[in-house]
Amino acid sequence: MSERPDRLAAVLEQIKREAQRGEFRVTQHAQQEMVEEEITLDEVLEAISKSEILEHYPEHRRGACCLLNGVTNERRALHVVCTSPPPPLILITVYQPKPPEVDNAPSKEKQAMKCSIRGCPGEYEERTIVHTVKYRGDVLVIDHVPAEVCAVCGDVLLTPETVRRIEVLLKTTGRPARNVPLYEFA
Ligand SMILES: [Zn+2]
Repeated sequence: MSERPDRLAAVLEQIKREAQRGEFRVTQHAQQEMVEEEITLDEVLEAISKSEILEHYPEHRRGACCLLNGVTNERRALHVVCTSPPPPLILITVYQPKPPEVDNAPSKEKQAMKCSIRGCPGEYEERTIVHTVKYRGDVLVIDHVPAEVCAVCGDVLLTPETVRRIEVLLKTTGRPARNVPLYEFA
């Protein structure tokens, strides 16, 4: 962090003010992560109100961003990646920080790829995602799709093999493995 501490303190104050006033937006990625980890928006706002800036990324594509470390009223630790002022405040990623991994786990042979989003300090992690596509007017949900997901900004990448596999899947759509409920928002 090369930024001056008094400037970062002002940044944090403004983020807290905007969050408290409800003057912010949430990325789709952050909302999906919140649902998955059962983190409510109220918990996120509690954590932000009691947070400190862990890292500041001045050159991010969305403008300057920072990683906040906060704790909810129930003492649940949360990390929030959000834009720094000027507004609009955007909550980009929300997650419960994982305890540091035990170091004698088998070392990954593959070097993690750096995030391709300009200024994003994240790296892609191999995960499986729930992938939703609209195909010929139908909503299709494909679970356990292997993907590379940036831990900081949530950017998602698919390999050519995965895209081809999805093409085959859609062409040969037989009976789905399971049926999932489809909710209308309103
Ligand atoms: Zn990223």
